[in-house]
Amino acid sequence: MYILQALDIYKRFHQTEVLKGISLQVKKGEVIAVIGPSGSGKSTFLRCLNRLETVDRGMIEIEGEVMVQNGPDGKAVYGNEKEIARLRRKMGMVFQSFNLFPHMSVLQNLMLAPMMVQNAQEAEIESMARTLLDKVGLAHKANNYPFELSGGQQQRVAIARALAMNPDIMCFDEPTSALDPELTGEVLRVMKDLAMEHMTMVVVTHEIGFAREVANRVIFMDEGVIIEQGPAQEILTNPRHERTQAFLGTVLMAR
Ligand code: ADP
Ligand code: MG
Repeated sequence: MYILQALDIYKRFHQTEVLKGISLQVKKGEVIAVIGPSGSGKSTFLRCLNRLETVDRGMIEIEGEVMVQNGPDGKAVYGNEKEIARLRRKMGMVFQSFNLFPHMSVLQNLMLAPMMVQNAQEAEIESMARTLLDKVGLAHKANNYPFELSGGQQQRVAIARALAMNPDIMCFDEPTSALDPELTGEVLRVMKDLAMEHMTMVVVTHEIGFAREVANRVIFMDEGVIIEQGPAQEILTNPRHERTQAFLGTVLMAR
């Protein structure tokens, strides 16, 4: 039984086929690292999982519930908007750019979405938000505004904000790529803590050390297909495909 299943996903932008039959099956508690060169379709794939992009063909199922599947003509058909919204909320997203609401305090950033969808008391939501801020080491920044925080702190707020919706799966798209090197550690630390708590995670990253240490499975994508995947040790230490070898060579060289 998979918590997230994507089968044979195709996506094109104009003339360009960006995803050419990508499949991913994730079990509860698994941590998956997705690596690959720039332009290989990693972000597009994550965005498709969360319906930030629509797929052209393929099936996506979250906790056994179908979000999209092929119709009789072989083209993707989505469920109704309300169902999709409900399924999307099972998935938290963290992007490279932190995307915090600039005119709201850190605490307000965390509370906004839960206030809109959960029928809980404001005090209850605030208490939950403060607990999450504490978890990412930022309880003392509750009343600050995003511009008053470092990039690493902003990204930790973004993670706490995604967690505030109590997702079953967390997706990260290069969460540390926009950060100065000295700030990546604090963000990776929070992600590692989440993994240790058995959060199901799909992480697009160039942090090979993180992938090796935290991921159960590494997926190498290139030009819209999965070239190879397997246990982190196997893929990162002993890649079979020459494209994986070449990519790891360039990434490790750049460090
Ligand atoms: P990655 O995250 O692996 O760097 P992306 O998924 O961002 O790759 O992009 C894959 C390809 O799709 C690139 O060639 C990119 O230019 C193209 N692409 C991504 N988003 C769009 C879009 N909204 N419109 C047109 N082309 C896009
Ligand atoms: Mg990307």
